[in-house]
Amino acid sequence: MSHLYITLPCDSEVSNINGSSDRSPYCRCGDWTKHWLKFSGQKKVPSACCVVGCNNPVDDGAHINVQGEGKKWFIAMMCHECNMKTDAALKKASQPPLLAKAGTICVFANRSETCDDNSNWENIKEMLSEIE
Ligand SMILES: [Zn+2]
Ligand SMILES: [Zn+2]
Repeated sequence: MSHLYITLPCDSEVSNINGSSDRSPYCRCGDWTKHWLKFSGQKKVPSACCVVGCNNPVDDGAHINVQGEGKKWFIAMMCHECNMKTDAALKKASQPPLLAKAGTICVFANRSETCDDNSNWENIKEMLSEIE
């Protein structure tokens, strides 16, 4: 299975995709946190939110865009509060864009590239049964 995630080399600007939780029903993995675990190859979620300056525990697999990666959608692990900070909300509050910490793992969100690809699914099915 080829790598289906990127690891940010340094603090990078990211933006929450507006309303993505409404538009994106859970994938075949069960939820976006499980999706992140499977395709990142991690055994557990990070101990803290990926946003610079935030040390809250993670709540959500957030749909984001990463600066320099075009319109590609990724999942990164965030606290709920940071996941609600859309570009529009930040602008309104006169806050700067979100930065994700160096080392943040951003998993591809596109289902056809990940869990809906049957060759990948065969590989992860077994791992998923271990977390459930
Ligand atoms: Zn999935
Ligand atoms: Zn946070």
